[in-house]
Amino acid sequence: MDKVTGVLFKMLGKTKLQEDRFHLEQIRQTWPDLVGKVLAKHAYPSRLSRRRLTLFVDTSGWSSEFFINRLLILQKINEALGEEVLKDLILIKGEVVKSKATITKAAPLPEVELTPAEAKEALQACPVLEDPALAAKAKDFFLKQARREKQLRQQGASQCSRCGAFISKDEELCPVCKRELEEEARQKLARLLAQQPWLTENDARKITGCSTYLYISVKESLKAFYNLKVRQETATEAEQSLAVCLTYSRPRERITALDYENALKAIRGKKQHVFSTRK
Ligand SMILES: [Zn+2]
Repeated sequence: MDKVTGVLFKMLGKTKLQEDRFHLEQIRQTWPDLVGKVLAKHAYPSRLSRRRLTLFVDTSGWSSEFFINRLLILQKINEALGEEVLKDLILIKGEVVKSKATITKAAPLPEVELTPAEAKEALQACPVLEDPALAAKAKDFFLKQARREKQLRQQGASQCSRCGAFISKDEELCPVCKRELEEEARQKLARLLAQQPWLTENDARKITGCSTYLYISVKESLKAFYNLKVRQETATEAEQSLAVCLTYSRPRERITALDYENALKAIRGKKQHVFSTRK
């Protein structure tokens, strides 16, 4: 993205969606230069929206790598784009899904040509760039995109109700949006359970609308996380209390001192203990 460095983007009069798409394409094309070849293999920039870049990362190990380096990565991308486009990275664990590329690669579509009016409309969305080479690239990108969208429309594709990406018929959301919404719901529930670890599935569902599966899965990961901290003796007082409250699904004031100690012992594995179910 060397040529982009320092170039002033003049996106006046262009929609945010078009601007985001253009920046995302720039990031994808120079991805290995931006994060290095090794990191680049383990994550794919799937979306840019509301100044946040969503990455699909293939394992949690690599996800941590990205998390640790996120400020550096954001800085590098912003420098390459020549402006403060991004303020955050969203990391989604899972296979490296190349959403739009997958749709077009899976089924080669019949060639279409744009009418002069359509081409003109597509180019109206194109940013005005100072660098002539980059301007040509941008023009090419917007024409290609318009052709692709025309092809997909002719094939009867519909659009994602959240981001406008073309998707197969009868779908409401694109795979990227589905995953983002799942991740948002998961994080919302995790925050809630960390504050009120005694919440039952019913209570949690009333507040967040979560499914049984999500409730169990989030609760189990929270338990595993805080129990590990207790075992490694790195838990703070509050984290220790959270581990115990999650164990009993009860508020701290409804756990006796003896039960509290027993739970900690059991978590540490020093003593097998059958938890009291008395409330
Ligand atoms: Zn979408």
